[in-house]
Amino acid sequence: MKYWNEKMECMEPSAMRALQSERLRAIVRYTYDRVPFYRRRMDEAGVSPSDIRGIDDLARLPFMQKQDLRDNYPVGMFAAPLTDIVRFHASSGTTGKPIVAGYTRADLDHWSEGIARCFTAYGVTCDDIAQISYGYGLFTGGLGVHEGATKVGCSVLPASTGNTAKQILLMKDLGSTVLCSTPSYALYLAEAIAQHPDIRLSDLRLRIGIFGAEPWTSGMRAALEEQLHIHAYDIYGLTEVSGPGVGGECQCQCGTHIWEDLFYPEVIDPVTLEPVPDGQTGELVFTTLLKEGMPVIRYRTRDLTYLTRGRCDCGRTAVRMGKILGRSDDMLIIRGVNVFPSQVEAVIMEMPEFTGQYRITVDRVDNVDTFDIDVELGLEHYADSMDPLHRLKLRLTDNLVSVLGIKPAIHIVEPGSIERSTGKAKHVIDKRTFA
Ligand code: ADP
Ligand code: ZN
Repeated sequence: MKYWNEKMECMEPSAMRALQSERLRAIVRYTYDRVPFYRRRMDEAGVSPSDIRGIDDLARLPFMQKQDLRDNYPVGMFAAPLTDIVRFHASSGTTGKPIVAGYTRADLDHWSEGIARCFTAYGVTCDDIAQISYGYGLFTGGLGVHEGATKVGCSVLPASTGNTAKQILLMKDLGSTVLCSTPSYALYLAEAIAQHPDIRLSDLRLRIGIFGAEPWTSGMRAALEEQLHIHAYDIYGLTEVSGPGVGGECQCQCGTHIWEDLFYPEVIDPVTLEPVPDGQTGELVFTTLLKEGMPVIRYRTRDLTYLTRGRCDCGRTAVRMGKILGRSDDMLIIRGVNVFPSQVEAVIMEMPEFTGQYRITVDRVDNVDTFDIDVELGLEHYADSMDPLHRLKLRLTDNLVSVLGIKPAIHIVEPGSIERSTGKAKHVIDKRTFA
């Protein structure tokens, strides 16, 4: 099967816009009537539900942010009564107090529909065995992907995170063909397989990797595809909007298709808040078009990316977004220069001598920012004498200076010395305190 829902994934743009407009009108009315927060915000902005006739009027509606969800913690933003809520999840709280999300039965159905569309776009079928190594529990990754994979009819192996030795054993004995995890955990698994005394890559049947929940670069994709002998695809999503599966790549690997009949995306300039043209990077904003439990309207994700339109080679018309550069709050300002950890990762991944594990430490000493990067040498390069090591360090420093414009202090560390993550990696320690 080429598409899970051909009608929605390949709809003509004008028909899609008409559908989105109809759904937008309904969701604006629904939230206005049921959630005091939206009613207040819209009243303050001087817009009423009847002013919103379609997508062209979307820009008249106020934005909302994570802080609004926190202020209404835990269930103040729910639009459905608790009797209709059949599931809670909570965001991982990477950047502070968690956000609680509530889902009705229909919400769970739309969420797993999005994931089923992604899985079909990657080429996963009911003949696959999907090992889900995202955390199960409050995190949306495990249970979310689980239900989508079940919908497609895969044999699901709910491995969750951790216990890497058992994961590899089951991967071999059951013949998992699909691995779903964070890219950092996949890198860790690849390394553990390479070092395994009894299991070789040729003993495994893996063919597809489904990676998301954190930013990853195309260099990381190349490394994972080579080390695990798979095709690696992106899956994107966030708890506030539903969870993973808001969008996913297709086999063309040329952008992440967003299921825009369910989740309407905009990209805005984070300073002026004006929409930016397609192709230009800005902050991604979502409006959920069918959610009942906790709908969001013009939710600012803080994720930075750009949109592209037009029919993809796969036949889908669903709008595509580029790889997420990072969250605006991942951006470090070091000696006045904007630095994204993903830029550092891109440079490190270009150099085969390194394992891809790194940690950035930023501090302030005598009023000057310090910028340190621990970067790990691959086992086969570790035996090198000091001299080539020194040259390698200089090369990495030069490559980073040319991308970032400032010079970090590089520390090449022993293989295995940077702590591995089974979930989202912690790449940055910022010790600076600001008065
Ligand atoms: P938290 O915000 O606490 O980490 P979530 O688990 O909901 O909670 O994380 C969603 C966020 O994870 C997104 O807003 C985005 O920053 C990041 N993310 C998810 N999928 C991807 C992806 N494929 N590429 C880059 N970043 C991603
Ligand atoms: Zn495509």
